[in-house]
Amino acid sequence: ALTIGIVGLPNVGKSTLFNALTRNNVLAANYPFATIEPNVGMVSLPDPRLAKLAKVFGSARLLPATVSFVDIAGIVKGASEGEGLGNKFLANIREAEAIAQVIRVFDDPDVVHVDGKVDPRSDMETINTELILADLQTIEKAVPRVEKAVKLKQREAAELNAIKDAQKVLERGDTIFASIKSDKLEMEHLKELGLLTAKPFIYVFNVDDAVLGSPERQAELRELVAPADAIFLDAKLEADLVELDEDEAREMLEMNGQEESGLDQLARVGFHTLGLQTYLTAGPKETRAWTIHRGDTAPMAAGVIHSDFQRGFIKAEVVHFEDLIEAGSMHEAKARGKVRIEGKEYVMHDGDVVEFRFNV
Ligand code: GDP
Repeated sequence: ALTIGIVGLPNVGKSTLFNALTRNNVLAANYPFATIEPNVGMVSLPDPRLAKLAKVFGSARLLPATVSFVDIAGIVKGASEGEGLGNKFLANIREAEAIAQVIRVFDDPDVVHVDGKVDPRSDMETINTELILADLQTIEKAVPRVEKAVKLKQREAAELNAIKDAQKVLERGDTIFASIKSDKLEMEHLKELGLLTAKPFIYVFNVDDAVLGSPERQAELRELVAPADAIFLDAKLEADLVELDEDEAREMLEMNGQEESGLDQLARVGFHTLGLQTYLTAGPKETRAWTIHRGDTAPMAAGVIHSDFQRGFIKAEVVHFEDLIEAGSMHEAKARGKVRIEGKEYVMHDGDVVEFRFNV
C-alpha cells in the first residue's frame, strides 16, 4: 500500500498530528467505499485543477487523490534491539513506503522531553541510529549468504559489493537514502534487503509560531536534514484546523501567516517523495484525480480504475488539462486537434485528462 509511516520520539506531537489526519473526515464522507483502518489517516492532495475541470463538465462532485499515513508508535532508544515494541515497530515500518519523522522544535515547559531538552539534531540522530542499527543487523545476516552464492556463481560479485558499500555507509552513521547519490549506491542490488533507511524520508518539524514565521530558522533545519524533504507545521494548530469549516480554517491560517495547512503540505511533499503523479477523469457525475507512479503507461493508469480496464485496454483518449481549459470544452479541444488517441506504450503525464476505451 502507498502509505507513509509516521515515526518520532515520545512527546513530539505524533498523536496530535495523527488525530488531525484521522479527523479530517471530509475524506471519509467522500470515499465511502474505502476501508479506513484505525491506525491509518488520510489527507487529500490539494489540486486546484479539479474545480476548474468540474466546471467544464458540470461534475456533481470532486474526488481528489489521497495520501495515507500509518501511525507507527514505539520508537525509543533500543528499539532496534527488538525489545518489547521493537519487533512490531520494525514490521510496521517495513510495510510503509516512506518514513515521515516528526521532530519536536516547539518549546513548552509543560511537555516533558524524553532527553530533557529540545534538540532537533539529537532527536533526529536518535531515530536514525535505531533505523541504522536495524539495517546493519539485516546486512550482517545477508552477507554470509550472498558470499556463499557468489562463490557458487549463483550471484554476481557486484551484488555483494553493493551490499558492502551500503554497510560502510551505515557503519559511519549515515542513512542509505541520504547517501544514494553521494556514495553511488547500486540500489537495484539492495532492494531485496528491504532496508529501512533506504526508504524516502520526510522530516516533519513540529514548531511554534516563532519558527513558522522565521524563514532563517527553517533554512537551518532544512539544512540539517538535506537531501530529505522538510515541512514545518504546528501540530496543535493542525488539530484545531480540522475542526473548522473551510472559510474559518482559511482565516485561522491567515492569522498565523500561513498560506497552506500543514496537512496539505504533508500531502504534497509525501506525494512527491513517493514518486507519484495524477491523471484526471471528468464527467457529469464526478471529476476525479487518480494516483499513478511517474513513468506509468496508459494501461497501468487504466488499471488503477479497474483491473478489467487494464486487461481489456484498447486505447486512451487524452487531452492535457491546460489545453482543455484553454479550449473551454471537450468539443472545442477536439476541433483544435488537442485530443490525442494513445496506445499501450503511451507514458502518462501529470494532468492528462483521460477517457479509456476497453474490451470487457
Ligand atoms: P506523541 O507522544 O509524540 O504522540 O506526542 P503527543 O501528540 O501526545 O503530544 C505530547 C504533548 O505535547 C501533548 O500534551 C500535546 O498537546 C503537546 N503538543 C503537541 N504538539 C504541540 C505543539 O505544536 N506545541 C505545543 N506547545 N504543544 C504540543
